[in-house]
Amino acid sequence: MSDCLFCKIIAGEIPSNKVYEDDVCFAFYDIAPQAPTHFLVIPKEHISSVSAVNAENSAVVAHIFEVIAKLAAEKGMESYRVVSNIGEQAGQSVFHLHFHVLSGRDMTWPPG
Ligand code: AMP
Repeated sequence: MSDCLFCKIIAGEIPSNKVYEDDVCFAFYDIAPQAPTHFLVIPKEHISSVSAVNAENSAVVAHIFEVIAKLAAEKGMESYRVVSNIGEQAGQSVFHLHFHVLSGRDMTWPPG
């Protein structure tokens, strides 16, 4: 999608601190980290949010969770949080599906 920030990051048009890439997804460190480790995992296909996941594209999400588990294991992350904000009221600011992976500090529940 031409005016999407994360599509531009995937295309290399905007620089990012890459963590991982394969044919399906791309992972990079968040520019404004909310924990000592904070990266985002996004599909290469433009999907606006979890609310746009369906039978045709859900395999992408399953793959992303495999990648999150693999990256967490590689980084020795034993405890971490995976978050996806859906809609402005929930805090979504970039409308390209992404999963925040946060680790390295105590976290509270419920989230703010
Ligand atoms: P959300 O607010 O849940 O939509 O998450 C979007 C995230 O993207 C925020 O945590 C931002 O800090 C992050 N972000 C925005 N622009 C960039 C960028 N150029 N590189 C890395 N992360 C970014």
